[in-house]
Amino acid sequence: MIWRDCEYCGGPFTTYPSVVKLGRGRFCGRRCARLYERYGKRNLGPRYESGSKKITRYCEVCGEPFQVTPSETAADNRECCGNECKFTLKTLRALERRKDEDV
Ligand SMILES: [Zn+2]
Ligand SMILES: [Zn+2]
Repeated sequence: MIWRDCEYCGGPFTTYPSVVKLGRGRFCGRRCARLYERYGKRNLGPRYESGSKKITRYCEVCGEPFQVTPSETAADNRECCGNECKFTLKTLRALERRKDEDV
């Protein structure tokens, strides 16, 4: 018996190599096979929707690439790779503001 990832929902399930050889054993269940037929491969289940689509951004402070999910981007508009840089950016922004006030 082998583990496979369902082509529709991405969930793991067990099947047999002989079944795979026949071009079957692609889905964890009949439900997913039916949904796949109807919606196609791109319509992944909600469980995998948020985790699979990652966006690469570059840290405003150190320039390091980091990955965010679309929901994260919407939530707090991440600009930094981590908390350390976030803090640095905050400090820099505060200093910039102060400079503007002086002028
Ligand atoms: Zn499935
Ligand atoms: Zn950084």
